Amino acid sequence: MITSPAFAGKRYAVLGLARSGAAAAEALLASGAELTVWDRQDVARAPFAGRCTLADPLEIDLTGFDGVVASPGVPLNTHPIADHAASYGVPVIGDIELFAAARGDLPPHRVVGITGTNGKSTTVALVQHILQMAGVPSLCAGNIGDAIMAQQPLEPNDNGTGVYVLELSSYQIDLAHSLDCEVAALTNITPDHLDRYAGFAGYAASKERLVAMQGAQHLAVFGTLDESVGAIYQRQVERREEGRALAADIDALRPLQPQWPSLQGPHNLQNVAVAVAIVEELGVLPAQWQQALPCFRNLPHRMERVCEEFGVLFINDSKATNTASSAPALAAFPPDPAIHGGTARVHWIVGGLAKEEGLGGCADQLGNVAAAYTVGEAGPRFAELLTGQIPAVERCELVSEAVRRAREAAKAGDVVLFSPACASFDQFRDYEKRGDHFRQLVGVFAELPECKPTDFLADDAA
Ligand code: ADP
Repeated sequence: MITSPAFAGKRYAVLGLARSGAAAAEALLASGAELTVWDRQDVARAPFAGRCTLADPLEIDLTGFDGVVASPGVPLNTHPIADHAASYGVPVIGDIELFAAARGDLPPHRVVGITGTNGKSTTVALVQHILQMAGVPSLCAGNIGDAIMAQQPLEPNDNGTGVYVLELSSYQIDLAHSLDCEVAALTNITPDHLDRYAGFAGYAASKERLVAMQGAQHLAVFGTLDESVGAIYQRQVERREEGRALAADIDALRPLQPQWPSLQGPHNLQNVAVAVAIVEELGVLPAQWQQALPCFRNLPHRMERVCEEFGVLFINDSKATNTASSAPALAAFPPDPAIHGGTARVHWIVGGLAKEEGLGGCADQLGNVAAAYTVGEAGPRFAELLTGQIPAVERCELVSEAVRRAREAAKAGDVVLFSPACASFDQFRDYEKRGDHFRQLVGVFAELPECKPTDFLADDAA
C-alpha cells in the first residue's frame, strides 16, 4: 500500500468505496488521516465501520476538509458533490491525485501517464511489457490493474528506478491537479463520453490537462497530429523546453510491423510508436524494445487472435465500442492479391448499443469488407447503412447466428472480425462478457470434427 506522512492529520471525505475508493481510504487511514467515508451500498461501507466516520459528504459540513476523494464514476458535471464541495472551497480529487501527493515520500521513481480515446490499455501494456523485458521495475495502475494506492511502492534496481505506468481516463484526469508525469502520452482524441462534458471541446480539454500538468522539462508524446491533438501539441511545443513535445514516429516503425503478430493494424502501429517514444525516454535501448515487440501478447478482447481454422482467422475485438476503434481493425486486413484474386476478405460482425449516428471512420474501410453480419439493437441501422456499400449484408440479431453464418461463408485467407463498433449493454454485461461469448462460440465450432470435403476424400482413400 502507498502511504505518506503528507496525509497525517489531514481531513478527507471519500465518496464511493469500490476498488479505487476503498484502496484510497485504506491508504489514508494507514497514513494517519481523519476520514469520513461513504458509499450508497452497505456492503461497501461495512469494512470501514468503527474505523472512521460513515457519512455522505453531500450531507455534511465540509469546513476544514482538505479534499473530497471521489470515484471516477461520479459524473462531476451533474453530481451535486461538485457544487457542495466548491461552496466550502474544498477540492474534489481522485486516487491519482493522492498518489501525486504521496510521490515525495516514495523511493526514487518515474511516472508515465497515458491517455487518449483509444489505445490506452494497449499502450500501457506495451510499455509495461518492454520495461519488464528490459529488467526495469514497473507496475501499471489507474484504469487498469489494481488501484494505485493499494500497490507496493517500487524500489530501484540495477536497471533503473521504478516506473509507475498509469492508464488515465479523462475522468481520472479531471480528479487530478498536481500529477507531473516524467512522460505523458496522448494517443488520439475522437468523440466519446460526451454525456460527461460540454461537447467535444470539453472532452479534449480534459485530456489536455494531463500534459498541461507536466513540468516544461518533462516529455509529452503525441500519437497523431490531427486537428484536435495537433492543436494541443502546438500549445505544448510553445510552453516546453526544446524537443520536449514529440510526435510519435509512426513511419519509422512501419517496416518492422510484420514482426509483431499481436500488433497488426494502423492503430497498433500508433500504439507502438507512442510506447517506443516513452520507453526510449526512460532509457530503454532500441535493441531491447525491438526484441520485446515480437513476443508481446495483447490484452484480451483487443484484436485478439482466437484461432485459425481452415485458413480462416477469427479475431475478437470486442473492446471496440466505437467506430474510431473498429475502423483501424477493418484497415488491418486489406485485400491481398495472393488470396482469392485480391477480393475483400473481412467478414465483419458489427452492432450492439450504438454510441454514434453513422459509420464514422469505418466508412473509409469498407473496401476491405466481404460481408457484414449485423447484431444487437443497432443491427438494423448498420444493415441499412451498409447495404449497397459492400458485397453482402446479413441481418443476424444474435452473435451466435453471426458467427455461424460468417464461418460458413469465409474462405481460406479470410478473417472473421468481431469488432462491434458499439457498446455491449444491449445484450451483455460488458465488453468482456461479449468477447468471452464470441470466443466460446468460435471455440465450440473449432471443436467440431473437421468436415471439409477434402477430409471425406481422405477417408474414402483410406
Ligand atoms: P482503451 O484502453 O483506450 O479503451 P484499448 O487499448 O483497450 O484502448 O483498445 C480499445 C479498442 O480500440 C480496441 O478495439 C482496440 O483494437 C482499438 N484500438 C487500440 N488502439 C487504438 C488506437 N490507437 N486507435 C484507435 N483504436 C485503437
